[in-house]
Amino acid sequence: MAAAEFPSLHVSQHPAVLHKLALLRDERVEPKKFRELVREISWLVGYEALADARVRAIRVPTPLEKTDGVELADRIGLVPILRAGLGMVDAMLELMPTAQVWHLGLFRDERTLRPVEYYNKLPDSATVDMCLILDPMLATGGSATAAIEVLKHWGAKRIKLINLIAAPEGVRTVQEAHRDVPIYCAALDRQLNEKGYIMPGLGDAGDRQFGTGHG
Ligand code: URA
Repeated sequence: MAAAEFPSLHVSQHPAVLHKLALLRDERVEPKKFRELVREISWLVGYEALADARVRAIRVPTPLEKTDGVELADRIGLVPILRAGLGMVDAMLELMPTAQVWHLGLFRDERTLRPVEYYNKLPDSATVDMCLILDPMLATGGSATAAIEVLKHWGAKRIKLINLIAAPEGVRTVQEAHRDVPIYCAALDRQLNEKGYIMPGLGDAGDRQFGTGHG
């Protein structure tokens, strides 16, 4: 589903995603279960996002005869945004075992809410055909926009953004700056609060995965 205002947004309607999403939001869910849910929902949203990956024809020998098959032709790059995006990587590698993983470190300056890049080991030019940016929460859109700019500068041609929960403010920001980048997520939530958290959201996706939310 995509809200009419957001033509580049794909919100999963799959019952398994919706069921797991309700669990993910629940504050009583402990980090181990939370990480499992991040992984499972990432797999399902990633599966939808990769539906147009290119394949090429191959011949496969079954025990009985040779038959036609396909293999993935696109070289896929996974770009997790540190640190919360790390929890999405394994699921995406299960889907695309040959994908390259390029980490990007962006933190949000709590005063300006603007992204600051602190880790980037991308090689000089693009080595993949399609980049999937992995970040559980699309809040202001600042980090996502910064990551897309880094990747475009790198030479990436096809970029997709994979989130678990998106805020309308973030979708708008990404869409206005990069209309060519589709966004895939499990939910479009109501709004950001004054601290930049997505409402109703799930809190801090990094803290909830890594058990660091207690001071
Ligand atoms: N990042 C998070 O982890 N949660 C939010 O609600 C917004 C940004």
